[in-house]
Amino acid sequence: MSSRETTMFLVMVTISLLVSSLLCLICIAHRLHLDAIRRHQLEVLEATTTLPREPSMVVTLQNSGLDDCTIQSYKKVVLGESLRLPGLNSLTCPICLVEYIPGDSIRIIPVCQHCFHVQCIDGWLKMKSTCPVCRNSPPDHRENEKA
Ligand SMILES: [Zn+2]
Ligand SMILES: [Zn+2]
Repeated sequence: MSSRETTMFLVMVTISLLVSSLLCLICIAHRLHLDAIRRHQLEVLEATTTLPREPSMVVTLQNSGLDDCTIQSYKKVVLGESLRLPGLNSLTCPICLVEYIPGDSIRIIPVCQHCFHVQCIDGWLKMKSTCPVCRNSPPDHRENEKA
């Protein structure tokens, strides 16, 4: 090898090394850029999907039952020895399926006159605002006062 050929060879090797390392750098920069974009998209997605979901869940939970004030406003009687119910029911409570006995406290839903143990219907109405027998919605406290 002459000294000129050696120089040419060294120059060629240097250029090829430079080009390949440059390509490598471009690749890395491109990947970092894509990562940044993807991370940003995920952040935007999380922000838009989690925010509206939570308040609507809270609203549906709060609307499903009646408040204590409304439930207490429904007519309540204590059964006497005759077991004569003031409403439409048979002699058993439709919620717990236990027969009424003298001295039981009975609550009557005003819209349909169905009767239940006070403790049974109070617990039910706190979770659902409909009669467990006929699914009618009892009026709320204010409508009840007007009637
Ligand atoms: Zn009952
Ligand atoms: Zn009913």
